[in-house]
Amino acid sequence: MEKPVPKVAVLEEINGPITLQDFPDSQPSPGGALVEVALGGICGTDVHLRTGHLNVPLPLAMGHEAVGWIRKLGDGLTTDVEGQPLAVGDRVVWANNIPCGSCHECLVLKEPTLCLNRKIYGINRRASDFPHLQGGWAEMIVLEAGTTIIKIPDSVSFEEVITLGCAGPTAIHGVVENLKIEPGSVVAVQGAGPVGLASAMYAKAMGAALVVILGGPTSRIEMALQIGAADAGVDMDSYPTAPERLDAFRQLTPHGGGADVVIECAGVPSAVAESIDLARPNGQLLVLGQYTDHGPTPINPHLITKKQLKVFGSWGFAPAHYVKYVKSLPQLVKNHDLASILSVYSLEEINDALADVASGSVTKAALRPGTKNEA
Ligand SMILES: [Zn+2]
Ligand SMILES: [Zn+2]
Repeated sequence: MEKPVPKVAVLEEINGPITLQDFPDSQPSPGGALVEVALGGICGTDVHLRTGHLNVPLPLAMGHEAVGWIRKLGDGLTTDVEGQPLAVGDRVVWANNIPCGSCHECLVLKEPTLCLNRKIYGINRRASDFPHLQGGWAEMIVLEAGTTIIKIPDSVSFEEVITLGCAGPTAIHGVVENLKIEPGSVVAVQGAGPVGLASAMYAKAMGAALVVILGGPTSRIEMALQIGAADAGVDMDSYPTAPERLDAFRQLTPHGGGADVVIECAGVPSAVAESIDLARPNGQLLVLGQYTDHGPTPINPHLITKKQLKVFGSWGFAPAHYVKYVKSLPQLVKNHDLASILSVYSLEEINDALADVASGSVTKAALRPGTKNEA
């Protein structure tokens, strides 16, 4: 019997439907691997790239978050990035981007997230180019040499890895590496999507005494409290205006002061003006949610000076952040029921799943391809 050909979710045109197409799998090149996808995560960025907010090559092999089993190892690939032996059947995850390592941003600025030559699975790889299987919404993906492959710890499930597939490493980069959060810190997180939830969880892990999540809908705030991502919530349904939210937030903080740290993960430009108000004098502010350019917004820069705010920006993540994310998972899943946030769809349901992510009716979605030859 002939071996079935792997299916790959492909975007042919901006705003068009995503179709499943057949591409042959191949022997991985030296240093690479062929991986059977167990779950492919859907990220908010996928909604934006489908609608043309990000410049992507077409036809695009979609899916920049995925986990799966090693099916073939290319010559010379014997360990994961941490030096653990790799074998066929192992459960792995990988950083979706491969910085070039030789540009000004990589070498001089030492900021591989800013590398303009990065290869990113599911974002800038054409399905029509060899080796075709270049997205995570697929039955198989071919990882090339230079991919940061990490074995998944035994105590962590595929679902738990993919729930914060992009959000976890994004928060490691933005929150853990930039911000000074100490035992006793009061942290405000704007936005209850995956990046907001991940930021809240890491703020707690860093010792924050009070983490307040501001966002909506009410059901998401309730879920954030239920999984222990935040200690309190200010939901947009009950407090629809910025002054009302500011007042509600201040009432939750000791002495009605502001936040030591504000983490903007809302993705709405106007949220940044609100961040400035939420911060206490000498506080820190991280603008993390504006990954897609939604245009300018009025802010009062006087308050940044007067309050002596420390303002940070952080763009995506580099492979090293992904490694830290995976290493943090055994502890994170002890503290928070990550898998409870996840809604799983079949690969064939991709267009419905993407629509549900776009409408916000699910917090986090992932696709489970049909092949069932589990190791
Ligand atoms: Zn993403
Ligand atoms: Zn580079």
